[in-house]
Amino acid sequence: MIPRACDVLIVGGGPGGLVAAREISRANPSLDVLLIERDRAIGAPVRCGEGVATAGISEFLDPRGASWVSRHITKMIIWAPDGTEVLAAEGDVGYVLDRSRFEPELAAEAGREGAEICVGTEATGLRRAGDGWEVSVRGLGGEQTIRARLVIAADGVEGMVARWAGLDTRVPAREMESCAQYLVAGIDFDPDALYLHYGNEVAPGGYAWVFPKGIGVANVGLGILALKADGRPARQYLDAYIDRYFPTGVKTGYTVGGVIVHTTIKRTVADGLLVCGDAAHMVNPVSGAGIVNAMKAGRLAAHVAADALAKGDTSAARMQRYHDEWMALLGDDHVRFHRLKEVFVKFDDDFLNALAQTINKVPREQRSLRRVLTSALVHHPTLFPAVAKYFL
Ligand code: FAD
Repeated sequence: MIPRACDVLIVGGGPGGLVAAREISRANPSLDVLLIERDRAIGAPVRCGEGVATAGISEFLDPRGASWVSRHITKMIIWAPDGTEVLAAEGDVGYVLDRSRFEPELAAEAGREGAEICVGTEATGLRRAGDGWEVSVRGLGGEQTIRARLVIAADGVEGMVARWAGLDTRVPAREMESCAQYLVAGIDFDPDALYLHYGNEVAPGGYAWVFPKGIGVANVGLGILALKADGRPARQYLDAYIDRYFPTGVKTGYTVGGVIVHTTIKRTVADGLLVCGDAAHMVNPVSGAGIVNAMKAGRLAAHVAADALAKGDTSAARMQRYHDEWMALLGDDHVRFHRLKEVFVKFDDDFLNALAQTINKVPREQRSLRRVLTSALVHHPTLFPAVAKYFL
């Protein structure tokens, strides 16, 4: 069989890969761009809380009135372990997406720019061939080989492409959160608010979330660090959580997934290959948010790739710029967030309850990060190492 050839092969049709496809086709419409997605549908199944900040998502698509938005969010509320409520943000906070519509919309945009999207098609291996790659693919039409001048690995948390290309993507067990989530109907909460609930009983090493999908309906999930848990899997913690806090809830959907709460892999670039999104561990290690990060990385990868192809030099040395620009954009922040998280997960519930009460004493209109930190440090000097680790 004659191998199919393209300029750019993108593996993975999540937010990172789809933005990469859209942006590279837009940057140079003459490039032959092919995106393959293992699942049979773009955007499904959804394994995500679907929460995004307004500023981040608006860089890519206009969320106002969009059909792929489930809910506009105007408050972020943090619950301390004992239920003490802290209003952490107010105003145009963000959105809860409908990813089953959001990703098809991104795919349509990529298609309009000229990229080809191929669902039900899985990369199963790759090897270097000349200046490019030969990628083995298993699809609806059987086995195939695709020759690409450049590959963008956007294959998510379980991604193998970067590893096949010789990059180190190992994750220490203590940096992997196990998550479980139900879509729950018939519950009572403020549908304009995102809720994050911390506590070692609730979700050791992580937090529980309630992200509204509509009135009385929400993604209710949690992530735990197995090494901090009592042996129960995430789903059992979640069942206990829903029994206790949302006993009227009807579970209408269920999903599980892993979130790598680590820092970006040391090398995101190889000859003829760039890695972006979860595949490169680009999730915020404190919040676990990765949708917009993956999109930002996809955009950056596309621009560096288009430039490298135009110059006829896709060597790792030339494309190192991608890694450096990512680190300046968010990667270095993630290193600091990661240090903060390492200290934060050691605090016990009594301390978190006291901290919430201290923050609530700061008047809402004066609740800047600086003011909150100053007040917290005055009342809880044990916070000094955490704050120092964050800023150093
Ligand atoms: P993905 O979205 O994972 O896309 C990768 C794609 O590659 C997948 O579609 C996969 O099928 C495909 N693929 C994999 N291997 C191959 C292969 N060999 N060949 C072809 N295709 C392949 N982030 C937020 O910002 N907000 C949240 O509220 C949030 N909640 C979350 C809740 C849970 C339970 C979990 C697990 C994660 C959550 N995240 C959240 C994280 C977020 O889902 C990811 O960071 C984001 O989807 C990363 O995008 P991506 O494009 O890098 O990867």
